[in-house]
Amino acid sequence: MVVVGAGIAGLYALKRLRDGGFDVQVFEAASDVGGTWWWNRYPGARCDIESMDYSYSFSPELEQEWTWTERYATQPEILRYLNHVADRFDLRRQVQFDTRVTSATWDDGAGRWTVATDQGDTVSAQFCVMAVGCLSAAKDPEIDGIDTFAGPTYHTGRWPHEGVDFSGQRVGVIGTGSSGIQSIPLIAQQAGHLTVFQRTPNFAMPARNGPLDEARIQQRKATYRTHRAAVLESHTGVVVELHDQSALAVSDDEREATYEAAWESGTLFALLASYNDLLIDPAANETAAEFVRRRIRELVHDPEVAELLSPRTYPFGAKRACLDTDYYATFNRPNVSLVDVRATPIVEITPTGLRTTAADFDLDALVFATGFDAMTGPLLGPTITGRRGAALRDAWAAGPRSYLGIAVSGFPNLFTITGPGSPSVLTNMIVSIEQHIDWVAACITSLRERDLHTIEATPDAEAFWVDHVNEVASFTLYPTADSWYMGANVPGKPRVFMPYIGGVAYYREVCADVAADDYRGFALA
Ligand code: FAD
Ligand code: NAP
Repeated sequence: MVVVGAGIAGLYALKRLRDGGFDVQVFEAASDVGGTWWWNRYPGARCDIESMDYSYSFSPELEQEWTWTERYATQPEILRYLNHVADRFDLRRQVQFDTRVTSATWDDGAGRWTVATDQGDTVSAQFCVMAVGCLSAAKDPEIDGIDTFAGPTYHTGRWPHEGVDFSGQRVGVIGTGSSGIQSIPLIAQQAGHLTVFQRTPNFAMPARNGPLDEARIQQRKATYRTHRAAVLESHTGVVVELHDQSALAVSDDEREATYEAAWESGTLFALLASYNDLLIDPAANETAAEFVRRRIRELVHDPEVAELLSPRTYPFGAKRACLDTDYYATFNRPNVSLVDVRATPIVEITPTGLRTTAADFDLDALVFATGFDAMTGPLLGPTITGRRGAALRDAWAAGPRSYLGIAVSGFPNLFTITGPGSPSVLTNMIVSIEQHIDWVAACITSLRERDLHTIEATPDAEAFWVDHVNEVASFTLYPTADSWYMGANVPGKPRVFMPYIGGVAYYREVCADVAADDYRGFALA
């Protein structure tokens, strides 16, 4: 088997498949393990799912021996954890680093994949597991003159390992998604002056981060098994209280108190879970959106800046919400200014800075917090060629198509971990990663036991699943936002809501049922 990627998914795939007696070779473009947490080293990078949930569940020993120090761990701590996992389970020796897979080609006659890399390797594999991540293809902004800037530029998703010292510099940050919202407060503390170029404001909620106390750690360590079981029954891979009631069915005072409690909880999904129609009914959604905007007005002293920071063009939660630490208050600092590049668009990057339709900005350094070609980007990076020479790029020209988000018709024995069409980025990713890999491991073990050699999604099953994923998305407000979930951040990318809204618990059931029904919807040969 070839596994592509050595992030959280690739590491677990290697461990699980090797334990299952398979011969596994991993290729990883980076120089070490960690994936997201190897690449995204920008100041302030940390998880927004609590550390004790954003961790593997497959090994009770690992759960007991590892101790998280903060409610939301920093990037260095998460990377240390993943290095510990690699060492503890002796995973590194089967990973070839600094090696990018450039193509995977299905050989109909041999019933195998030929996988080629940029280091000149060519290997033959019966199965190919694409553990390439959903947010691993960093995307620079399409701005004229981007290469003319005389100073350094940094993408948050490709941050220098030695760190960056912005002391005294005039720094520009483009982008106010999660990466911008995490990095801006820390860059502001260091820079001489920070100019934030914002096209669309985001909804951010306070993380209420802090050190984990010993009692809390011991309590979780004592109850990990029951806690993990509850996680599997949840919608998002995180246990949050769901209120099964409309936001419009309660009094203003009651709603305000519910939102206030969610806001104070510092939990990503709490506000969205406050009522059952926030992602369905625009009027219900507006109550939550306005609640956040009121908080922004309280936190930001200048009313004009507060208004600029207030999202008004899309529903709350339809773009991924953010957790922040001092984001809004950062705009009260005298050395920080906010430029609305929706009103006055960026015209070009110049050797000395950046020009909008309204002004020139002189800058010493530029930070691109401009996100990723999400979900499909990493899968379409290498040239993947399936049966009869068909390219995945062509099969997905009008948007990704898959069965269960894990397999693609015409591409036998290829598995897409947390691929488009699965709950993936709408959930605690580790939960979805482990579920996919456990399913793949059980699947190929079953094939091996029955001396079957290929598994392939049927066109009908794929068509049914694609329709289902689109149908449930269409019941919600998600498709109304220009989000990366919709591919809207990449010019020319088809507008399709890529993840599956069905949730962790329901999706697990569907996958288990498909397997129990002898892999219904798959052709086995
Ligand atoms: P990745 O970690 O992206 O790893 C994929 C690896 O594949 C990369 O190392 C890449 O180099 C490699 N690769 C890709 N293509 C090739 C190729 N062709 N050849 C060789 N190697 C290749 N999710 C959460 O649930 N909670 C969070 O708090 C959270 N925080 C995040 C913070 C940031 C800054 C970002 C960017 C994402 C965050 N995510 C979070 C999502 C995060 O990506 C996942 O949680 C998780 O790390 C994904 O693991 P993965 O192994 O699937 O993918
Ligand atoms: P993102 O959410 O896609 O945000 C990119 C930002 O850049 C947006 O504000 C976007 O504006 C802006 N932008 C892009 N191109 C631009 C241009 N040409 N001119 C001006 N602005 C431009 O990317 P991200 O912040 O890296 O986050 C991606 C995802 O990674 C998150 O949603 C989350 O899932 C994950 N993540 C999580 C954390 C965490 O807290 N743990 C941290 C970072 C990332 P528009 O909105 O107008 O397009």
